[in-house]
Amino acid sequence: MDRLAALRGTTPPRPHDARAIAALAANPGCTRRALMDGAGIDKSSTARHLGFAPPFGQSPFAIARSNAFEAQVRGSLAELLGSVLGLADVAYEDLRGACPPSAHDQDDPPTLYDHPGLTLPIAGESTALEPSVPVLSYGGRCHVVVVKSFAVIDGQADPAAVAAAARQGAVYALALQACDLRVADDMVLVCPENFANRPVATLVDVRRQLAVLRRQLGRMASLDSLAATLPPEVTFDLRPDASGEPTRPAADLAADLGHAPARYAPECLSTCDLCYFCRDEARQAGASDQLGRPVRDALGGVATVGEALALADGTLDPAPGQEEIARLLREAARLRTECLT
Ligand code: SF4
Repeated sequence: MDRLAALRGTTPPRPHDARAIAALAANPGCTRRALMDGAGIDKSSTARHLGFAPPFGQSPFAIARSNAFEAQVRGSLAELLGSVLGLADVAYEDLRGACPPSAHDQDDPPTLYDHPGLTLPIAGESTALEPSVPVLSYGGRCHVVVVKSFAVIDGQADPAAVAAAARQGAVYALALQACDLRVADDMVLVCPENFANRPVATLVDVRRQLAVLRRQLGRMASLDSLAATLPPEVTFDLRPDASGEPTRPAADLAADLGHAPARYAPECLSTCDLCYFCRDEARQAGASDQLGRPVRDALGGVATVGEALALADGTLDPAPGQEEIARLLREAARLRTECLT
C-alpha cells in the first residue's frame, strides 16, 4: 500500500460509498481510475483543480422527487414485494445496521430486512456501506431491493439508468455474499410506473455486474503492482493548504496523471468525475477511444482516428496484423464515396 499512499500524498483519503464502488464496474479496463480509487483519491476535487469540473450533481427537484418516491414506497414495500413476487405475508424487520441473519431455509417465511449493516473489502480495507438498501429473504436466498425514481413507461425504462441501478445492487449483493448469505442472481428493482407514482417491482439479473465487480475489486487488491509500473516520482497529490485548497500547479498534476493509462469511452461521461479531463486528453491524442467502445473494438489495434483515416484512404500501409481492418476501412471509404457522389 506504500506506493498507493504515496500517490495520494498529503491529500486526505476519500471513503468509498456504494455509488462509487458501483461505478468501478463501469470501466474495469481503466488503470487510471483503478489506481485513483484504490488510493482513495478524490477524483472530483482532482478534476476541478485541473479545470475540468465533473458534470454530476442531481437537481434539487430530482433529489426531492427521489426522496418523496422512496418515502412513499418504503411504507408499503413488504406488501408490494409480496404481491409482485406472489409471496404471502412478508414479515418486516428493521436491522438498524446489523448484519442479516445468515441461516435461511427454503421454508423460512419471507422477510424484508431493512437497514442492514454491510461491509465490503476494498483494496485491503473493510469498507462499511451505508445501511440504505433493504434485503428480501425468501426461498432460502436473499434479494437486494433497489428503489429508484426513474419511470418505467410501457414496461421499458432507460437502459443506462437500469444498468447503473444493477451495478449498485451488485455492490450490496457482493457484501451480502461476504456475510456468508446465499444471494439470488437477480435483484428487485422498484420504480414508478408510467407517469403516475404507482410503484412497480421487476427482477433484474445482476450476474454480469457481479462478475465485473468481483474482477475489479480483485484487481484493486493487487494495485500495488500496477502502481509500481509508474515512474517513482509520479504522484496525484493535490498538496492542499491548511484550508484544504489544492496548491499544486495543475499542469504538473496533469502531466503525472498522464503516466497512468486511461481507457476513455463516452460512457465515462455518466460514471466518472474525471470524464472531461480524459475526453480532452483522448481528443488531443486523436484516440479512437472517443468514438465509443463498439468502434474501438471494431478497429481493434488502430489507436487513433488519423491512423484509421490514413488506412482507409490508402496513404498508410497496414502494419502486420492490420491487413484485414485496413481492407474493411478501404471498403467502407469506397462505399461512403459512392453514396456521396
Ligand atoms: S473518465 Fe478517465 S479515469 Fe475515469 S474511467 Fe474514464 S478513462 Fe478512466
